[in-house]
Amino acid sequence: MKQKKLLYAGKAKSVYRTDTKDTLIVEFRDDITAFDGGKKDVLKNKGSYNAGVSAFFFEYLNNNGVKTHFIRMLDSSHMAVHRLDMIPLEVIVRNIAAGSIVRNYPFKEGTKLSPPVIVIDFKDDSRHDPMLNDDLIVALKLATPAELRKIKKIALEVNSLLSAFLAKQGITLVDFKIEFGRRGNVICLGDEISMDSMRLWDKKSGESLDKDVYRFDKGDVMQTYNAVTQRILKKSGSGRSPKRT
Ligand code: 5GP
Repeated sequence: MKQKKLLYAGKAKSVYRTDTKDTLIVEFRDDITAFDGGKKDVLKNKGSYNAGVSAFFFEYLNNNGVKTHFIRMLDSSHMAVHRLDMIPLEVIVRNIAAGSIVRNYPFKEGTKLSPPVIVIDFKDDSRHDPMLNDDLIVALKLATPAELRKIKKIALEVNSLLSAFLAKQGITLVDFKIEFGRRGNVICLGDEISMDSMRLWDKKSGESLDKDVYRFDKGDVMQTYNAVTQRILKKSGSGRSPKRT
């Protein structure tokens, strides 16, 4: 497959057309940013860690009935994906209070949220990704009520699958952000699932194993990304992601 024209460059990924119809290439770059781009760096190999973990989780989810855009990895940082008509929503699932929910609401950090809390933000950097509600999503014609129900259902299913998998490695899935798109009429998971988009805590030590290490200068972020990637990928043994047991 040949990589063609750049379609879109975000803060940490670039998307290219290919010579194959409805197939795109996502490049996971070594850029890392935080605070709306206010903090940024380039860290060697960072892209390949996020790509590897994303590919692993997309395969795991595909194997468990969740439709994603993932096709295959082309090399350590380039992923072939189905073209989706992306829906500009950031769907965040929270199992434990941390981050913005603690800053914005009277939750104590570490409080278990049961059932999990879904928060949906408008993906719009110029407006700093404001939080939406169901009525706003429908009024803005970002998704139909039926699509929104489907998106929430898939988000909770992804949460159960990822939480169960990570728990076996002694990792708590605190929260994560996912994005969806349409492939024809079918809602599919797009974007990435990586240390940049999840909040992960070591079950024993409570240590952060994700981008919070970079955001809040908690340690060597590349050492953390390397270690957590090994922890996640080694579980599968063969390198293939398992069905949920
Ligand atoms: P918070 O709202 O607490 O900042 O983020 C909640 C979760 O969603 C965290 O796991 C965070 O990494 C993820 N998240 C929220 N907004 C973004 C975003 O714009 N990009 C990425 N990659 N992740 C996000």
